[in-house]
Amino acid sequence: ENYHALLAENRKLFNEIQDLKGNIRVYCRIRPFLPGQREKRTSVEHVGENGELVVADRSKPGKEGHRLFKFNKVFGSDATQAEVYSDTQPLIRSVLDGYNVCIFAYGQTGSGKTYTMTGPNSSTKENWGVNYRALNDLFDISQRRKSSITYEIGVQMVEIYNEQVRDLLSSDGSLKKLGIMTHSQPNGLAVPDASMHPVKSTSDVIQLMGLGHKNRVVSATALNERSSRSHSVVTVHVRGTDLKTGSALIGNLHLVDLAGSERVDRSEVIGDRLKEAQHINKSLSALGDVIFALSQKSSHVPYRNSKLTQVLQSSLGGQAKTLMFVQLNPETSSYSESLSTLKFAERVAGVELGAARTNK
Ligand code: ADP
Repeated sequence: ENYHALLAENRKLFNEIQDLKGNIRVYCRIRPFLPGQREKRTSVEHVGENGELVVADRSKPGKEGHRLFKFNKVFGSDATQAEVYSDTQPLIRSVLDGYNVCIFAYGQTGSGKTYTMTGPNSSTKENWGVNYRALNDLFDISQRRKSSITYEIGVQMVEIYNEQVRDLLSSDGSLKKLGIMTHSQPNGLAVPDASMHPVKSTSDVIQLMGLGHKNRVVSATALNERSSRSHSVVTVHVRGTDLKTGSALIGNLHLVDLAGSERVDRSEVIGDRLKEAQHINKSLSALGDVIFALSQKSSHVPYRNSKLTQVLQSSLGGQAKTLMFVQLNPETSSYSESLSTLKFAERVAGVELGAARTNK
C-alpha cells in the first residue's frame, strides 16, 4: 500500500477530530450498573450526542439539581469497547506518523478505568480495552506499510506508587524470549531505568502486559489493593525508517490507568494510607495543573511537580495529543465523587459550563 496516501488519509481523519481544545480532548464514559448491584438509581440524567452530559443531584427536587457538562464526546453505559475505541483510533494511528500521544483514564476506584484501558479480567478480543486495540492497530498498519517503511515497536510498563517508579517488566526468566531492546531510548523519551521490550505481534503484547499485570497484583495483595492507589503507565515507542530516504519517524504513546481519584477522609486514615492519599492527591493535581496550563497555552507548564507528569512530559504539550477518559459511576450514592471528577475534567479542559443549570 502507498504509504503517502495512507498518511494523507490519516492526517485528514486526524484533523477531523481536532475540535474543542486543539490537542486536548476529553471523553466521558459512564459505567453500566453491574450485575448484582442493589442500587439502581442513576445520577445521569441525559447523555447528548454532541458531548453534553447532564447529571442530577437527586436530593434536590426536579431540575433544581441538574448540572450540565460538555465534553468532546460522552459514551453512555451501553457503549461497547469497539465504539469507544473507534473514536480513539485516529490518535493511535498518528503515533505511526511521528506524533506523541498520551491517553489516560481518570475517575474514582470502580468507575471503569481499567475496563476502558485494558478490558475486563480474562478478556476476549471483543472486550479488549484501548491498550490491546492500540497495539493491534499499530502492528496492522505497520504491516501494511512495510514496503515503504519498517517499524520497530518497543514497550515499557511501570507503576508509580508514592512518587516512586517501579518497572513492572524488569527482566526475569520469562522475558528472555522477547529480549530487551538495546537501543532502548530511540528518542530520549523512554522512562529512565525501566526495561524496554521489543514487540512484534499482539501476542507478544498480551504476554508482556499479562506479566506486568501479575507483577502489579503480587504487591497488591501485600499492600491491600495497591493497584487502585498507583498509576500504571504503558509506554509504546515507535520508530519507523523510510526505506527510500532512510529518514526516521519517531512516535511515542503513553497509556495510563490512573490511581483512584476518590477523596480520602483525612480524619479517618493514618500512617501509610494517609501517605498514599497525599501522594495520589499531589500527582493528580499536578497532572491537572499541567493540562490546564497547556489548555491555556501558558508559557510555564509545571511538569516537575510530580513523578507522573515527569514521566508523561514527552507526550503532554508541544505537538503531542492528549486524550482523557473521564470515568463515572452511575449510581446516586456516588454523586458527590462523580461531581468532583466532572469538575476536575472541566477545569483541565478549560471549558466552564458546569455552573450553568439546564432549563430543559
Ligand atoms: P477502576 O479501574 O476504575 O477501579 P474497573 O475497570 O476495575 O474500575 O471497573 C470496576 C468493575 O466494573 C469491574 O468489575 C469491571 O469489569 C466493571 N466495568 C467497568 N466498566 C464496565 C463496562 N463499560 N461494561 C461492563 N462492566 C464494566
